[in-house]
Amino acid sequence: MGTRSNLDELRTSVRGKGLRATPSRLAVLELLKTTQAPMSHGDVADRLAGSSWDRATIYRNLTDLAEVGLVRRTDMGDHIWRFEAVSGDHDHPHFVCTECGGVECLPEIELAIRRAKAPRAVKQRKVEVHVRGRCDSCL
Ligand SMILES: [Zn+2]
Ligand SMILES: [Zn+2]
Repeated sequence: MGTRSNLDELRTSVRGKGLRATPSRLAVLELLKTTQAPMSHGDVADRLAGSSWDRATIYRNLTDLAEVGLVRRTDMGDHIWRFEAVSGDHDHPHFVCTECGGVECLPEIELAIRRAKAPRAVKQRKVEVHVRGRCDSCL
């Protein structure tokens, strides 16, 4: 668990969305906030394996947090939901390794639209951008 002020911040944002700030919910959100890449339900459950919460509770926490917009849920094309804490207004592209399936966040890459003819969803940034290739360890 992080520092006291960190926890207070998490508690405030969870309550601000009308959810109860249960210990498991706070732990799930804190884990996602401190992890650099999106995590599947299995990843999160493994990381919190030392706790007393079962996998169903953790899954419910993930979906609750996603429904209120504190967490983003994305299918990177392998039919596995991956979850990450939402920070700021902007979504960011993700890199998906075609060999090992690993996923990395690419907050430094922005989608540039050079032509007026792009679909409305693209202009409004209501799209997910996945970049595919081999990650550093699979090259
Ligand atoms: Zn890889
Ligand atoms: Zn990301």
